[in-house]
Amino acid sequence: MTTTIAHWIDGQVRPATSGQQQNVFNPATGAVTGQVQLASHADVDAAVAAAKNAWPAWANLPPLRRARILNRFLALLNTHKDDLARMITAEHGKVFTDAQGEVTRGIEIVEFACGAPHLLKTNFTDQVSTNIDNWTVRQPLGVVAGVTPFNFPVMVPMWMFPMALAAGNTFVLKPSPIDPSPSLFMADLLKQAGLPDGVFNVVQGDKLAVDSLLEHPDVKAVSFVGSTPIANYVYETGARHGKRVQALGGAKNHLVVMPDADMDQVVDALVGAAYGSAGERCMAVSVAVFVGEGTAEKVLPQLIERTKALKVLNGENLDAEMGPIVTAAAKQRITGYIEQGVAEGAQLLVDGRQFDAAQTGAGCEQGFWIGGSLFDHVSTDMRIYKEEIFGPVLACVRVKDFGEAIDIINAHEFGNGVSCYTRDGHIAREFGRRIEVGMVGINVPIPVPMAWHGFGGWKKSLFGDMHAYGEEGIRFYTRQKSIMQRWPEATAKGAEFVMPTSQ
Ligand code: NAD
Repeated sequence: MTTTIAHWIDGQVRPATSGQQQNVFNPATGAVTGQVQLASHADVDAAVAAAKNAWPAWANLPPLRRARILNRFLALLNTHKDDLARMITAEHGKVFTDAQGEVTRGIEIVEFACGAPHLLKTNFTDQVSTNIDNWTVRQPLGVVAGVTPFNFPVMVPMWMFPMALAAGNTFVLKPSPIDPSPSLFMADLLKQAGLPDGVFNVVQGDKLAVDSLLEHPDVKAVSFVGSTPIANYVYETGARHGKRVQALGGAKNHLVVMPDADMDQVVDALVGAAYGSAGERCMAVSVAVFVGEGTAEKVLPQLIERTKALKVLNGENLDAEMGPIVTAAAKQRITGYIEQGVAEGAQLLVDGRQFDAAQTGAGCEQGFWIGGSLFDHVSTDMRIYKEEIFGPVLACVRVKDFGEAIDIINAHEFGNGVSCYTRDGHIAREFGRRIEVGMVGINVPIPVPMAWHGFGGWKKSLFGDMHAYGEEGIRFYTRQKSIMQRWPEATAKGAEFVMPTSQ
C-alpha cells in the first residue's frame, strides 16, 4: 500500500491542484512507498496567502509566548523522536541510529530558538544628546521560505523554521520531494503545540514550487540548502526579485593527516566521516590528505580492511553502519564517478561496485546498494577530486608538507568543512588561522557547529552573507530599526539645517 503526501496549508493537509505527483521510494528495498504531490503556482500562492494572513498576529505576539509554543513543540519532538527517525530511514535510507542523531541535532536548534526573548533583546543608549535616547529593535520580515535538500529531511528544515518563527515570521517550507513525509509530521506537531494556523506551511514540489516562491512578491526571504548550482541559481533569482537570500551549497571536505597524528584515531575518523550516511552529508569527508613520507602507509592497510568490512545493511537494522544510496539515479552518478576515477588513473583500492546486495537483508535485493570505495594516488586535476560525488567514495591525496596541504585546500572551489589530525598545538593553531573554509575541526572529523554558533561554509559552499541558525540566523530573519526619541517639552525652538550632532 502506498501513501499520498500532500501540502500543509493553513493548519491542515491540503491536496495539490496540479494533478502532478512523483514516486517516493524506500531506498533499502527499491519499493515505491508513496506519491508526493507537486505544487502548482496556485498551491504556492495559497500557502503564501495563509502565511501572510497569519503574520500580523504572530509577529505581534510577545516573544515569550512564541517561545512557549516552541517549548511545547520541543516536548513533542522529544516524545516522537524515534517516529521521526523511522520516517527518515524509510525514505532516505540512512541507518536508524544516524537518523536519531539527525533528529537530535534538529532538536538542539529548537532548544536555542526557545530563547527568543533573550535573542531578540537589543541595545539602548540613554541620552545620546540632551534629552534624546536612541535604541534599536529587530523586527521580523514577514513571510519567509525554506527550500531543503533530501539528505537531512528533519534537521535542515529545523535549521530554519524554529529560528524564523521565534523571530516572529511566518514560514513556507518546500522540502525535497525525495523524502517529504517528515515535513507533514513536523507540521502536525507544531499544530499540537498550539501554533496558530497559517504560521507554518508546507508545499511539496520541485523547481516550479521553488520558482514560484522566488518570484512571489509576498515572500521576503529565502533560506536554501542543497547543491551548489541550485544554490547559486536561488541566490541570484531571489536577489533579482528583491529578497534576502542565504543559499548553502555543496562541499568537498578534506581531512588532513599530519605525520604525528594518532593513526588509530585517523582510521576511525575517516571510516565514520567518509561512509557514515553513505557519504550523503554536506560535511562528509571525501578527501584524505596524507602529509609527508610514509604517512599514507601507516593508515591505508587498516583503512582498506575497515572499508571492506563496513556493515552495509538495511538501515532498520541496529547493527548497520551504512545504508543504501538515496535513489537509483544517485547510485548511477556515484558509479559513474568511480569509473571516471579509474579512467583518470587513480588507484582503486576498494571497489564499492562489487558489493553484493544480497547481504543487506531480506527483501533488499532491489534496493539502491553500493559498498564503500577507496581511491589512492588521486591528484588535484582529477574530476573525482574537484567535484562533489556525494556518495561513499574516499579519495586519498599525498602532499609533501603542511604548506602544500593548506594550499590545495585553499585552492579548492568549495569551503564547507575541513579537519586536521595532529598532536602539535602550533600546527593546529596555524591550520585554524590559515585555512579558507567555514567550519574547521582539529582532531574532530565532522565539525558541525552547535545551535548557538551558526552553520555555514565559504566560497562556493555558501551564497549570501549570513550563516544558518545561531545569532546569524536571528539576524537573517529580522531587520534592524533604529528609534531616536525626544519628548515635546524638551524640543528646542527653531529649525535645524546642519547635520545633527550630540548637544
Ligand atoms: P538539490 O540541489 O538537488 O535540491 C535541493 C532543493 O532544491 C530541493 O528542495 C529541490 O527540490 C530543489 N531543486 C532541485 N532542482 C531545482 C531547480 N532546478 N530549481 C529550483 N529548485 C530546485 O540537492 P539535494 O540533492 O537534495 O541535496 C544534496 C546537496 O545538498 C549536496 O550538494 C550537499 O552538499 C548539499 N547540502 C549542503 C548543505 C550545507 O549546509 N552546505 C547541507 C546539506 C546538503
